Amino acid sequence: MHAHRSRLVGVALSVLLAVSLAGCSSAGALAQAVGAPGHGPGTTRSSTGLTDDDGYIPDGTSLALDSDLPAVTRLNPDLLSALRDAQDAMAAEGGGSAITIADGWRSERYQEYLFAQAISEYGSEEEAEKWVKRGSDSEHVRGGAVDIADAGAMDYLNRFGNEWGLCQVYANEAWHFELRTDPGGICPPQSADGRG
Ligand SMILES: [Zn+2]
Repeated sequence: MHAHRSRLVGVALSVLLAVSLAGCSSAGALAQAVGAPGHGPGTTRSSTGLTDDDGYIPDGTSLALDSDLPAVTRLNPDLLSALRDAQDAMAAEGGGSAITIADGWRSERYQEYLFAQAISEYGSEEEAEKWVKRGSDSEHVRGGAVDIADAGAMDYLNRFGNEWGLCQVYANEAWHFELRTDPGGICPPQSADGRG
């Protein structure tokens, strides 16, 4: 009994060690990749072991709409095709740069991680809930939301996104878009509290 138990402890310790080593190496890789000040939260994120498979996109980077990473490929296909159509129109009108995303589909554990971060930032679970949705409550986790990275594309979608059903949902999140109306329809009023 005793021997069995200590073997289990040994296994648990080596798992912990492996996890913390993995965390260290990815934090280091991210710090190298970003290499700029002001990315403290990004470094913290990577130390949790979040990866491409969680839809994790490191701070300061973004993905094109034809990316084959889960943050893009696990989006609702209707949302993705609306974004691609909007991108084509924007380019045809000389609007320049492509639509890139800073956040798209997220795993539930990625969302829970963001929620945990909000708790430490805002001091309580109650306060955090005003700013970040929990796990599967987030439209990002359902693949129904994107955060636009490029300011020009954000502006274009804010003005014309409804042509493809794309709407800004939260008044204080100019970057967060969901399919909220029929193509050419009117977007619903924006809600005041951004919890995308
Ligand atoms: Zn969002």
